[in-house]
Amino acid sequence: MKERYFGSVRFFKHVIYGFMVSVAAIGIFFLYSLGTKLFSANRGSARYIASAAAASFIDDDAMAPDVKAMGSIAMPAIGGGETAAVSPADTLAPSYTPTPGTETVPPETEETEEEEEAAQPDESVYSPETIGYQLLYPDLYVTPSEDYAEEEGKVAYLTFDDGPSARTLDVLDTLKKYDIKATFFVVTKNLDTDILKRIAEEGQTIGIHTHSHKYTQIYDSIEAYLEDFNTAFEAVYEATGVKPSIFRFPGGSINAYNRGFYEELNAEMLRRGFMFYDWNVSAGDSAPNTGSDRIYSNIINGIGGQEKLIILLHDSQQKYASAKALPRVIEYLQSNGYSFAPLDNRVEPIVFSYK
Ligand code: ZN
Repeated sequence: MKERYFGSVRFFKHVIYGFMVSVAAIGIFFLYSLGTKLFSANRGSARYIASAAAASFIDDDAMAPDVKAMGSIAMPAIGGGETAAVSPADTLAPSYTPTPGTETVPPETEETEEEEEAAQPDESVYSPETIGYQLLYPDLYVTPSEDYAEEEGKVAYLTFDDGPSARTLDVLDTLKKYDIKATFFVVTKNLDTDILKRIAEEGQTIGIHTHSHKYTQIYDSIEAYLEDFNTAFEAVYEATGVKPSIFRFPGGSINAYNRGFYEELNAEMLRRGFMFYDWNVSAGDSAPNTGSDRIYSNIINGIGGQEKLIILLHDSQQKYASAKALPRVIEYLQSNGYSFAPLDNRVEPIVFSYK
């Protein structure tokens, strides 16, 4: 006889097995899907971390002191396009004339004030660490001039960098002989205090050039620049009792070492009241063994019809040729209708720009 399946013991066993298999299957599926979710989530974050690590590796690599990488990638990004498009004329002080070799456009006073005020809010957009260096050296301030002096006619401002040295004495003798005044942007490392005092006593102007004159050191950061400048400033003040209010950046206000932050550095120095001067005529006497004939012709050829000349010369120890060329340069300028004056912070600066 055939046992009836429905309702039999076997039937209920199968129902129970079926139920248990279903529960197990649902449970396994549930655990599986949960596991998949967790796994993919983990894998996602792992991928994120990996990419972040890769990115930071790339950044580190780019910032590494590899000359080629800095030259081809970092430098154009920092100093190239955008930065270069903004000239000091736009952000800093009034009526900066850009390009070396061109003539300064005389400012209108009202405009000047407006631009000065307009320049103020720029400081507030600086990053927080900016405030740090603004608090450094609380005595490193001078009173800026309210206005630029009116300049009439042809004026030559002779400027001598990198002294004082024995050559400074030669230059001072020549200046005395022709009864003219000039400007000395001094280096205070290995400072000869007696010569510095003589410069001041003879009514010549002293400006700051630098203490160390080491480009890589002073242009390492704004803090580093301020430290060097403050050392030079204190040395000059101690030796002469005069607080210099003008200065010249080693290498000029725009150079290969400060491209990334020259505008911020310029702004900080102006904020402290210091006025800086580049040049529009160069003696070309930086290179050793430049003869006095060459120096003379460099200057004469550099004038180019400009009425206002800020002439760069050097009076460091080895610059015999510069000192030797000076009388001829002075006589040429005098015979061409130029008068001579020392720089002070009322003289509208000639400042370089990328424009
Ligand atoms: Zn120099």
